[in-house]
Amino acid sequence: MNLESLVQLLYLAGTALFIMSLRWMSDPETARKGVFSGVAAMALAVAGTLAGVLATGGTHYLWILSAFILGAAVGYPLAQVPLTAVPQRTALSHAFGGMAAGLVGTGKFFLYYGQRDAAALTPFIMVALVAEVLLGFLTLTGSLLAAGKLQEIAWIPQRPVTYPFQNVINLGLFSLALALGVALVLNPLAPWAPVAFGGVLVLSLAFGVLLILPIGGADMPTVISILNSYAGLSAVAMGFVLDNKLLITAGALDGSSGLILSIIMCKAMNRSFTNVLFGAFGQTQAQGAGTAAQVYKEDTVESAAQIMAQADLVVIVPGYGMAVAQAQHKVRELYDLLKKRGVNVKFAIHPVAGRMPGHMNVLLAEAEIPYDDLLEMDDINGDMPQADVALIIGANDVVNPAARTDKTSPIYGMPIIDADRARTVYAIKRSKNPGFAGIDNSLYFLDKTFMLFGDAKAVVGELGRHLSGEGH
Ligand code: NAP
Repeated sequence: MNLESLVQLLYLAGTALFIMSLRWMSDPETARKGVFSGVAAMALAVAGTLAGVLATGGTHYLWILSAFILGAAVGYPLAQVPLTAVPQRTALSHAFGGMAAGLVGTGKFFLYYGQRDAAALTPFIMVALVAEVLLGFLTLTGSLLAAGKLQEIAWIPQRPVTYPFQNVINLGLFSLALALGVALVLNPLAPWAPVAFGGVLVLSLAFGVLLILPIGGADMPTVISILNSYAGLSAVAMGFVLDNKLLITAGALDGSSGLILSIIMCKAMNRSFTNVLFGAFGQTQAQGAGTAAQVYKEDTVESAAQIMAQADLVVIVPGYGMAVAQAQHKVRELYDLLKKRGVNVKFAIHPVAGRMPGHMNVLLAEAEIPYDDLLEMDDINGDMPQADVALIIGANDVVNPAARTDKTSPIYGMPIIDADRARTVYAIKRSKNPGFAGIDNSLYFLDKTFMLFGDAKAVVGELGRHLSGEGH
């Protein structure tokens, strides 16, 4: 077999593995296999590219190897971040992807322009180049800003930044970039073409920032997923420029999966794309948390344990706070202790609990809680009135009844877990601070609700101690 056929074979195997990777990752049982096949696909892609360079007798394989080492050196520490920081880590990956596509596009344009190679700069390639640079660079700055907002970096505003005519200005800038792009497609070798190309580049960088500025921290996971699809599309365009089929397929998979994920999140929050991108959600801060008129009732862990021990059905509603506290193993112990006492225990999983879809499933699977006791929101809500106790562990927005009743609430319309319909509600959180959306939660002020203030891991551990009899 000659080297060229080997390259195509490696790319084909890589493509198949990327497709299987996504397929396997959609189920917790096969998710690990999915991750490994994704890694293998990427390794084949690098190997194929190296073989391609060797096939043409090129010597720049050293650049590829250096990039591989540099990428691994940056990627390894990125892989060590805690699960709660995965959304911003993912945003950084998209920023790198966008930057790579943007730089390759820029490099290719100036290379062909310098050679005055009209045959290389066909209208088709120019369209791909402009799309690659536009999407690549706007993904770069947009993703960096999104990551900064999620990481709550002090000098980056978390709340939406809005000003008059914002959408008009943004649309104007984008149209200008598009107009320059069209001019370039029609006249790629014009004397002014490098300046116009620079204009597209600068406008894309600026547009990325301006697009994300009016979006609040609460919408960042959805926006990151949208940026994921932009990065994928810029990779598709790069695939056309470089005539690389593996890149086209991988980019298309990336682009479509990002889009599907954003749609899932929007549906779970009952929001539209336009509302996420242009709605400036989270801008109006409702009244401060725990205002004087609203009084929290507290209870002791001991009495909460007693009530739970006597219950027939306890529904545990986990949220972001369980992830922060890494309380999943203590939750497993509590689950075992209640089960031992004959209590029926179910977990109510909201599709956007935590900071990414599947966040709670991953944590609870890590603690080896049987999948059968993990119920999706729609499957558990009908049983909530029969629940003796709803135990909220670090969840807030996803159990806020304002989403059902208060038309002025920014989360109005978001489907929620009906914890307020249980007979008694216990809520574990550390303080009176609001949740992600920055609004008060009327569930905490109901007659039947009792707060167990403290870190989730500590409080759940205490509950376990009382249930096992050690707390006496
Ligand atoms: P949440 O509304 O962010 O509330 C989490 C609660 O956990 C907070 O009230 C916090 O209160 C508490 N907490 C934090 N650390 C804790 C600790 N160590 N121990 C105990 N409690 C702790 O979380 P959620 O109910 O899971 O809702 C998710 C939010 O993210 C929603 O607004 C959703 O729209 C948004 N979102 C999620 C996704 C996704 O894919 N999952 C995507 C887009 C948006 P204290 O500070 O008082 O402890």
